[in-house]
Amino acid sequence: MHNMLVKEAEYMINSRKIEDLHPKIQELCRKHIKACAKRGVRIIITSTLRDQEYQNYLYAQGRTRPGKIVTKVKLIGAHGFGLAYDIAPVTSDGKKILWNDNAKWQVIAEEGKRLGFKWGGDWKNFIDKPHFEMTEGLSYSALRAGNRPSWWKDKAQNG
Ligand SMILES: [Zn+2]
Repeated sequence: MHNMLVKEAEYMINSRKIEDLHPKIQELCRKHIKACAKRGVRIIITSTLRDQEYQNYLYAQGRTRPGKIVTKVKLIGAHGFGLAYDIAPVTSDGKKILWNDNAKWQVIAEEGKRLGFKWGGDWKNFIDKPHFEMTEGLSYSALRAGNRPSWWKDKAQNG
């Protein structure tokens, strides 16, 4: 079992690094974090870029793998293109995630939406409070088909 997990970790992309986001999203994510800090809400990034293999692994949780269901999404979405990140409020020492602190989630949502992000907390089918994305209205299937936001070319290393 342990060896299997090590092997999975080797090929799956599951990043929490802000640098793995599209440059425009990186800049906005930093602004988002600062705006929250100004209002007394410290946050941590729990996910940025992930690949289809990691999405498969997440999807399996609560289905073919033990644990609670964490996603309804089988195919890679905005995270696969560096256009989404997941964040959460933490205690002032940064040690504990405050999943149930609705006042802090409210601040995070307001500041993210002010910057132009769509918030997963507004979704009807599967509320995903940590999730913020910017796709310029493109659906995930459109992204997977190769469509990109008009500002995508700003990302030098990815055409
Ligand atoms: Zn997400």
